[in-house]
Amino acid sequence: MSDGDSRSRAGRLAALVAEAELDAVLVGDLVRPGASGADAMANVRWLTGFSGTSGFAIVGEGHRDFITDFRYTERARSEVSGEFDRKTLEGRIVAELAKLLNGKVGFDEDSTSVASLRKLREAVSEDVSLIPATGFAEKLRRRKDASEIEAIAEASRLADEVFEWLAERGVVGRTEREVALAAEARMRELGSEPSFPAIVGAGENGALPHSEPGDREIACGELVVVDMGARVDGYCSDGTRTWATGEIEGEAREVYELVRRSQEASLKAIKAGVSGADADHVSRQPIAEAGRGELYGHGLGHGVGLEVHEAPRLGKSSEDVLQDGDVVTVEPGVYVPRHFGVRIEDLVVVEALGVRNLSSTSKELRIVG
Ligand code: ZN
Ligand code: ZN
Repeated sequence: MSDGDSRSRAGRLAALVAEAELDAVLVGDLVRPGASGADAMANVRWLTGFSGTSGFAIVGEGHRDFITDFRYTERARSEVSGEFDRKTLEGRIVAELAKLLNGKVGFDEDSTSVASLRKLREAVSEDVSLIPATGFAEKLRRRKDASEIEAIAEASRLADEVFEWLAERGVVGRTEREVALAAEARMRELGSEPSFPAIVGAGENGALPHSEPGDREIACGELVVVDMGARVDGYCSDGTRTWATGEIEGEAREVYELVRRSQEASLKAIKAGVSGADADHVSRQPIAEAGRGELYGHGLGHGVGLEVHEAPRLGKSSEDVLQDGDVVTVEPGVYVPRHFGVRIEDLVVVEALGVRNLSSTSKELRIVG
């Protein structure tokens, strides 16, 4: 599990822990311990290889513990890297975890509920101090190694195949919901699963960036925003295309070409060393010049990996600087309230001199029946 750096992932995490003058860090989901979703388990999965819904790691100088409950003892044996000391908890998760801690222990505020923190505090021995230490694993997870990029590229290829299948099958006369469900079912037929519930927004619903696909029937001669992703070996893809159901003239056509220009300018601007804020600024320029700046209400993009939304962020207030091995979306959009929306989203790998685009579906306005 190395990527250029010869240390293991746990080794690199332990170095960050030592730098922060902690004895160990507790990695895992303390919001719904024992029943965590894929996103909440992302750090543990990245660190240990474990793909179940109940698992924690304690990492620091001399600590490599992996803890799960009895349901996952076997899975842990087959999945969790041998450098970890694998343990099975018998009783209540938080109280049992507390027994394994000593010294100055970092915990992740973003994945710890107030209730769990209180229980943890009550259960640890007196010499343990619990110190907020958020984002250590996330920071390391940004740089994807070759096998991670391969999984994301495969997820993206699969989603592109579903885009093509949907377009050929047609969307007119079907409801948004039916199209979204068909896309997700097709993904499963192809041996994958959706990385998030597919978004299908027709006409005025396309103006709501995260509209829930509803019973609105897709008509002829309108724009339809389709945003979806697949998941392969835990790794996500995320991509959007906006289609026209018949010839589109006037404002809708203009806005489509505007978003396409913005998206292309952004792709050209992105490379290692460029800040997330600067990349975002590039995407906004053509849209602002066309007098539609206020209709582009979200950031340019986000990191994608074991989670659909992870570091870094490409947006006005982002403090991230893009680096080699980041996998990010590039997704400007313009939303004309009560009329239509356009979003075009590619998934790219950030490299030293530019991007490697993992989305291969054409961005010319496609007429779909
Ligand atoms: Zn998306
Ligand atoms: Zn996205």
